[in-house]
Amino acid sequence: MPVPMHTSGPILDEGVKLISYCPLCESSYRPEAAHVLGEKEDSHLLHITCGRCSNAILALVLISSVGVSSVGLVTDLNFDEVHQFRRAGAVSTDDVIETHSLLQDSDLLFSRLAVA
Ligand SMILES: [Zn+2]
Repeated sequence: MPVPMHTSGPILDEGVKLISYCPLCESSYRPEAAHVLGEKEDSHLLHITCGRCSNAILALVLISSVGVSSVGLVTDLNFDEVHQFRRAGAVSTDDVIETHSLLQDSDLLFSRLAVA
């Protein structure tokens, strides 16, 4: 369930000001477009969807004694998909080998896609 940004306190509001514009269309983000994915000590991971172009970013906001900084990454994942992938296990060597094998055999690839 998405958590509205304004329920997370004024410190996060300061962090969002650093990433207040969409990097793709340069329109301003609305505060309610930001959702908290996770928090750990002074680090906050946010998912923000642009109200104009509908593209999204994942933003890591770090709050320290010397100030607030943020790093953003454009993503095509919506908020629920990010949660889904966070629960998934890490990609293993076997996963990579299996994917490589599937890409070599289109019949097997499409049979596997039909099952999924
Ligand atoms: Zn945009």
